[in-house]
Amino acid sequence: MTLTDRTCVVTGASRGIGRAIAEELGEHGANVVVNYHTSETEAYEVAETVEEFGGNAIPVQADVADEDAVEAMAEATREAFGGADVLINNAGLTIDKKFDNMSREDWEQVINVNLGGVFNCTNAFFDDIKSADGGRLINISSVVGQQGNYGQANYATTKSGLFGFTRTLALELASEGSTANCVSPGFVKTDMLESVPERVQEKILQRIPLDRFATPEDVAGIVRFVASEDASYMTGQIIAVNGGMEW
Ligand code: NAP
Repeated sequence: MTLTDRTCVVTGASRGIGRAIAEELGEHGANVVVNYHTSETEAYEVAETVEEFGGNAIPVQADVADEDAVEAMAEATREAFGGADVLINNAGLTIDKKFDNMSREDWEQVINVNLGGVFNCTNAFFDDIKSADGGRLINISSVVGQQGNYGQANYATTKSGLFGFTRTLALELASEGSTANCVSPGFVKTDMLESVPERVQEKILQRIPLDRFATPEDVAGIVRFVASEDASYMTGQIIAVNGGMEW
């Protein structure tokens, strides 16, 4: 499952799942574009790790919700590597509140990053993915998009939205030999989960048959498979990585 000479763009690669994905792809020979928003030091560390594996990496600052910044990231990618073969739409955030307390701003901020960012990045790299030999669009959704989750109406909406988006783009990319898939993690030990109160985490854990939270690496290995040539006949799918949770 080597990714030698493949160029992979990972959004939100400075921390958590995105970081693990970037390092995993780099370890398997890919050129990696390490997108970050605010965590500059961490993003440079990720790029260094990829280079220690012998790969090439560039850290690129861009708020995925900012169309111009994303276009500039696509330009930087083309300058460094000639274009992208794989786009992993991973960047995301939560602003958790019961719907009673959720303001329009809370709603829009999450929609603008988790869905607006996916639009901007897919749009900016779409021609690259179409013209790549076996291009890949990989969207990171969530079990929350499948089940809903108390206090996450905005977030769950964005993560469900990725299912329709992915299945549609799978149809539209098929004639080019490129694929679109969703990887849908359960609950993963990252800063995002840290923001969930301890007592809620304990309740969640009781619902996970494998009786542990995922590590970022659990997700990264699956993303590497989807990015690889071994997954070339799989498209329009939702690949759940959730320790056996139902949906
Ligand atoms: P995390 O630890 O909070 O990290 C979030 C990453 O996204 C950071 O690298 C952050 O960059 C980046 N990011 C946030 N807003 C951005 C923006 N506007 N533009 C560019 N980058 C931005 O989150 P995570 O747990 O790794 O989650 C990664 C993805 O997996 C998200 O889409 C999330 O919804 C999904 N997911 C997470 C879980 C979970 O339990 N953790 C479960 C299912 C799905 P900076 O630090 O540079 O600002």
